[in-house]
Amino acid sequence: MELASVEAPETGRTNLIGLSRAALAPHLLAAGVPEHQVKMRTQQIWHWMYFRGVQDFDAMSNISKDLRHLLSTHFSLARPEITSEQISTDGTRKWLMRFADGKEAETVFIPEDERGTLCVSSQVGCTLNCKFCHTGTQMLVRNLTPAEIVAQMMVARDALDEWLHCDRHLTNVVMMGMGEPLYNFDNVKAALQIVMDNEGLSLSRRRITLSTAGVVPMMARCGEEIGTNLAVSLHAVRDEVRDEIVPLNRKYPIAELLAACRAYPGASNARRITFEYVMLKGVNDSLADARELVRLIAGIPAKINLIPFNPWPGAPYECSEWTQIEAFAEIVNRAGYASPVRTPRGRDIMAACGQLKSESLRARKNPAPAGAA
Ligand code: SAH
Repeated sequence: MELASVEAPETGRTNLIGLSRAALAPHLLAAGVPEHQVKMRTQQIWHWMYFRGVQDFDAMSNISKDLRHLLSTHFSLARPEITSEQISTDGTRKWLMRFADGKEAETVFIPEDERGTLCVSSQVGCTLNCKFCHTGTQMLVRNLTPAEIVAQMMVARDALDEWLHCDRHLTNVVMMGMGEPLYNFDNVKAALQIVMDNEGLSLSRRRITLSTAGVVPMMARCGEEIGTNLAVSLHAVRDEVRDEIVPLNRKYPIAELLAACRAYPGASNARRITFEYVMLKGVNDSLADARELVRLIAGIPAKINLIPFNPWPGAPYECSEWTQIEAFAEIVNRAGYASPVRTPRGRDIMAACGQLKSESLRARKNPAPAGAA
């Protein structure tokens, strides 16, 4: 069998993280694992990688020493490098991860009482340029590979020391970090399939939420092929306003987006679509907007997440007044929708919603002038 992607040991070892089981097998074969063993070895390696989290083939104690040596000459289990870790006063942790090509993305862990949510990035940067989002101001953009997406969860389990615990704190994943997951569909799908594999990282699809700004043509496939919970960044109820703050709306306007939500496979009262709505003072927060929101989503099994706008330096908006957020929530609640107001977390370390951006990159490129605060 020809396997062009297997790199010779002298040019670098192939990293096994992010390969599906089906993709792992031919790599093992090409490295010299006897054909009749490939299935069993795939199973064993999978278990060590994703269930136990080992980073070294030598720890794979049910594999013979010779074979471990063979594996380590051909393959690696290296994680991205953590180039900075910040811990908020509220316990939120933000990691900046540097990938093999030097590009960086952020991952955030948000501990709560009974659970903890990992906010995972799908791209370095983002092409959408939502006006209120800090990531949109970053220039560099590329898709993350399945390996780079899965590795964010593995690094979090390493850092939280949670591989062998049954009372884990990392219980949920949201694809709400940097990037638009539905613009990187294949890689996000491949990564989430590994995250959901029940002999590995083993997170149930009900504990994973994919958030999109509304890439309408990919939404049905998202429901059918990935099957996690869906969150939609709605943020405005009139096209004039949404065109401005979520420019993707010019391509896929509100009516098309809501039609895709109505048709979303698997949505039901037990599995509601979350509509995210960032509260921007004087822009989208009027009580008429709240009433229009309720009217627009009628008939969709939904809940509404009201997100106080998290400011960042130079942001063109302010967060709505608290009384306004409450009055808005009241209208939505009275219409029968749960509308929790999301408490901002990790604000002191710029880890709150929409604040993710590899600051260090800019800092390195444009060092502050001497004497600047
Ligand atoms: N591209 C995807 C996922 C990334 S953004 C999406 O648009 O859904 C994750 C969520 O954070 C989105 O709802 C986004 O609109 C919101 N967000 C972005 N910037 C924000 C900010 N400054 N304050 C509050 N929420 C923000």
